[in-house]
Amino acid sequence: MLRVYQTVRRIRTLGPYDRFGLWLQGCERNCPGCISPEAGRMDGGYLADEDTLAGEILSVPDIEGITVSGGEPFLQAEALEKLLCRVRREKDLGVILYTGYTYEEVAGHPLLRQCDALIDGPYIKEADDGRSMRGSSNQRLIHLSERYRGKIEYGEWGRKIQMAETDRNEVVMVGVPSGHSADFARYLRDFWKGGPDGDH
Ligand code: SF4
Repeated sequence: MLRVYQTVRRIRTLGPYDRFGLWLQGCERNCPGCISPEAGRMDGGYLADEDTLAGEILSVPDIEGITVSGGEPFLQAEALEKLLCRVRREKDLGVILYTGYTYEEVAGHPLLRQCDALIDGPYIKEADDGRSMRGSSNQRLIHLSERYRGKIEYGEWGRKIQMAETDRNEVVMVGVPSGHSADFARYLRDFWKGGPDGDH
């Protein structure tokens, strides 16, 4: 079983081509400025088994890959590896994974065999440099296969965001926001949570 924060069937940010977006629930870091702190709660989200999630991913036509973020995907590494193995056995999908761990901390982990590219390290607000694909300059894009080499590089394009509907029928902002768009992403998050700024 995996504890999921949200899924989006088709995203056009956080990697090239059309992709399936999977955000896992649970992270223990509490980085100041984290764009999705509610994804950090260890008891939040919902539980889904690998077969259900695999079916959901495989039902989306014409996607090139999956982007996995969180939360911290490595807290559920075993189940995530099982899911990715199951999906990639049936369809040639590329995998981009965001983690708060550094590559050195997870090097050799079996989950990395199911990933084509890793964006590593926690978000550091003071090091936010506005470049594409990552939140802060400590985060590295590490190619684990040749699949995305030359197709995703930092700075190749500016940060981009999209509005998308999740599996919970909520409209969220997907991508790495900055400035006003980061404020708007927080506003949307509070709106759906009915928080202080979410007047509903
Ligand atoms: S590691 Fe990522 S998900 Fe976890 S608190 Fe930091 S920015 Fe948020």
